[in-house]
Amino acid sequence: MSDKLTRIALVNPDRCPKKCRQECKKSCPVVRMGKLCIEVDPSSKIAFISEELCIGCGICPKKCPFEAINIINLPTNLESQVTHRYSANSFKLHRLPTPRPGQVLGLVGTNGIGKSTALKILSARQREG
Ligand code: SF4
Ligand code: SF4
Repeated sequence: MSDKLTRIALVNPDRCPKKCRQECKKSCPVVRMGKLCIEVDPSSKIAFISEELCIGCGICPKKCPFEAINIINLPTNLESQVTHRYSANSFKLHRLPTPRPGQVLGLVGTNGIGKSTALKILSARQREG
């Protein structure tokens, strides 16, 4: 099995776009090599990050003045175990158990970690971020 990392790139729509100088795009080493790793949509002004091109260097989250970006490196083997993803550059749920009729399922975690959100997704009451 490959130990190559894959990653999740999150762009928080409550923080991007802001009146910025597109610091994310300007600071990305992959963009500097001429690849479209970060693109800022001309109309919405929201940054889009290509998870395929991103090398997970962690520079753009530090450069964005509004802390709009999170880059999370993952083991490759999690890629085949995605339970749910809202949309590009939004968060993913991995390895969530599937509820079965007549069986009890417990979700344990700290405050704010997403237990209620995960339950809404599992019960198909929430589909969009
Ligand atoms: S992620 Fe930050 S720096 Fe990049 S476009 Fe959005 S607000 Fe600007
Ligand atoms: S983390 Fe990815 S998108 Fe951000 S600067 Fe590095 S290579 Fe570019």
